[in-house]
Amino acid sequence: MNSLWSPWHGCHKCSPGCLNCYVYYLDKIHNKDASIITKSKTNFDLPLKKNRKGEYKIPSGSEIATCFTSDFFLEEADAWRNDCWNIIKSRPDVNFLICTKRIERFKECIPADWHDGYSNVLIAVTCENQEMADKRIPILLEIPAPKKYVFVGPILEYVDLKKYLKTHKIDLVSVSGESYENARVCDFNWIKAIYKDCLEFHVSFDFHQTGSNFLKDGKYYKIKHHDEYEQAKKAMKFMKG
Ligand code: SF4
Repeated sequence: MNSLWSPWHGCHKCSPGCLNCYVYYLDKIHNKDASIITKSKTNFDLPLKKNRKGEYKIPSGSEIATCFTSDFFLEEADAWRNDCWNIIKSRPDVNFLICTKRIERFKECIPADWHDGYSNVLIAVTCENQEMADKRIPILLEIPAPKKYVFVGPILEYVDLKKYLKTHKIDLVSVSGESYENARVCDFNWIKAIYKDCLEFHVSFDFHQTGSNFLKDGKYYKIKHHDEYEQAKKAMKFMKG
């Protein structure tokens, strides 16, 4: 993932994973109310912006994390989404990663020419616990999309994905812990167990970030936010042996 595109900002909490949402946390620091949904005035068309040489600011081959300070399928954004689909369609040279907790709205939010999905769009659901996995992944498996990811984050418990992994319809499982103040614990034993399940069913796995409150071998570690990614990489290496 190497670029971020936030065509709108703000969101509503809808799930246990939203409790310590980083958008709320960071907005509060800047005296902003994250529950107010606003369309970006300057970067709504970011993927189409060009530099002085006439080249796209986001280069060909990039992966663009889309709407990571909101949810792409939020109802308040219904009036703006079609313009986004048009932008996405006009950049077939980059991939757009859309990650949602509102996959149940997918069918009413896709464009008329979606058919089997745009080849440059990756759809991911986040599921922080078993209940949310069992609610969202069955929908993900049924929708038409060329690539489907499952993000277990912020992980709140071991999530048993085996019955979904064995369908071979999931391209990647990525796990992460919770960040910032009040972060709930991320137990390395859960990560190892999910990794083992992915190995069994030959599904790609990534441990993306440890979160701020990491439990490993019975010891709690407070991890600074900027170290979470590096620590997760180290933990992955350790797991792979
Ligand atoms: S869906 Fe995502 S962005 Fe929205 S409140 Fe929940 S965690 Fe925050």
